[in-house]
Amino acid sequence: MLNLILFGKPGSGKGTQASFLKNKYGLVHISTGDVFRKNIKTETELGLKAKLYTEKGELVPDQITVSMLENEIKQNLPCLGFIFDGFPRTIYQANEMNKILTKYVLDLTATIALDVDDNLLKERLLKRGKISGRADDQSVDKILTRLNEYRKKTQPLIEYYEKMNKFYSVSGVGEINDISKRLIDLIENLI
Ligand code: AMP
Repeated sequence: MLNLILFGKPGSGKGTQASFLKNKYGLVHISTGDVFRKNIKTETELGLKAKLYTEKGELVPDQITVSMLENEIKQNLPCLGFIFDGFPRTIYQANEMNKILTKYVLDLTATIALDVDDNLLKERLLKRGKISGRADDQSVDKILTRLNEYRKKTQPLIEYYEKMNKFYSVSGVGEINDISKRLIDLIENLI
């Protein structure tokens, strides 16, 4: 089984590359952001709770996010593997994820970061906001909040996965196809 975490700041291209890798390796793609957006749109109980945070650019509380993730994993087993996009985003989530992976006898293959500089990210997110209409891409303030959340809560995960010898990084700058190729080269070396 190939189980990957695609890691990176908002706008680093995780969604695009995750859907490419999903097709290439036949994986189940779990994007916590997408699951929240779907629930917000259909106004489920989870969606109504998540909206309070996502619309401000803040992280949804850990407990809500972790139980949603476990549910998604459970629903998709058995499968060839998972690609996690946007999860984990806190140390708490990473610890809980380890427990969940053990519970379902899944091994984490690698955490791969897409490395992109902040100025380019702001530009990409504002551009995406005009096309996608996503509420959290619409203002510089919300984008800055998300980048701050990343710095405070998510960045420490780099060291966390480095200590587990599971952390890798590729440049997320350039043509989409070139970035995909960097990811494939790395993954082929890992499997
Ligand atoms: P994304 O599409 O990954 O940028 O996620 C959009 C929004 O969903 C984030 O700004 C958070 O509010 C929320 N979200 C997504 N994944 C998580 C997570 N793992 N933990 C907490 N909040 C999350």
